[in-house]
Amino acid sequence: MSADSTPTDNINPAVDGSELIRFDKVTKRFGSNVVLDNLDFSVNSGKHVTLIGPSGSGKTTILRLLMTLLSPDEGTIKVGGEYLTHEERGGKLVPAGEKHTREVRKNIGMVFQQFNLFPNMKVLRNITEAPVHVLGLSKDEADERARELLDQVGLGDKADAYPSQLSGGQQQRVAIARALAMRPQVLLLDEVTSALDPELVAGVLDVLRDIAHSTDITMLCVTHEMNFARDISDQVLMFDSGRVIESGSAEKIFGDPDHERTREFLSAVL
Ligand code: ADP
Repeated sequence: MSADSTPTDNINPAVDGSELIRFDKVTKRFGSNVVLDNLDFSVNSGKHVTLIGPSGSGKTTILRLLMTLLSPDEGTIKVGGEYLTHEERGGKLVPAGEKHTREVRKNIGMVFQQFNLFPNMKVLRNITEAPVHVLGLSKDEADERARELLDQVGLGDKADAYPSQLSGGQQQRVAIARALAMRPQVLLLDEVTSALDPELVAGVLDVLRDIAHSTDITMLCVTHEMNFARDISDQVLMFDSGRVIESGSAEKIFGDPDHERTREFLSAVL
């Protein structure tokens, strides 16, 4: 297949390096537990950004806020220049209606730790369901897109299988294809290999490396796979207690971090 006919070429046609995600003074609490503390950060389009840091430091909460599975207690989140959970009305910022949030969220795809495939649907339909019902693609268009993506994740022969007939690694690759079928501008990856048997991890990471290197999609990734993070990241954010304590290139963060806490964390996980 030639480079310009790869299925994911058009995922993000408007990549121009501009700001795609912005967290502005975001605070998230669960009871008295301040999980994100007045957090500011941004991600430019086309970049691959990895969130690292100790368990409980708030990384997954960021992805869940972007998916609107949670909402911030304070602060705002923008995706592609649009507020995610707010709308501007009459010069004021008010909580957004469901329709507005759904439109903005269409730009975001997520792959979860536990693949979350629909068990009663064959692999192909798992992938075509949202493009048909949310994007309004015809069944033929959605099928064609799904088959291209299945080829890309190395599962071209599994279209008619049920999830339970696949290994965990294969199910996770279907989940990646399902997320990409919506042609999101940003792909969120939440510890996508941590529920897998060790021998299945490499296959999933290889698929993600291929996507990172062969497409312009923006990636925001929470992972404990530090070699993978080093390979794909344009930027690494080190979290501790709901704050970014250090950020920089993968080379800088893994090679010569400034912060003692980053050194401690990396020496414990590497
Ligand atoms: P990380 O991804 O860095 O491990 P999380 O974002 O998952 O951290 O969690 C940050 C903190 O928020 C943890 O203390 C966790 O227990 C708490 N937390 C996460 N989700 C919930 C929830 N739904 N209810 C209560 N506390 C939660």
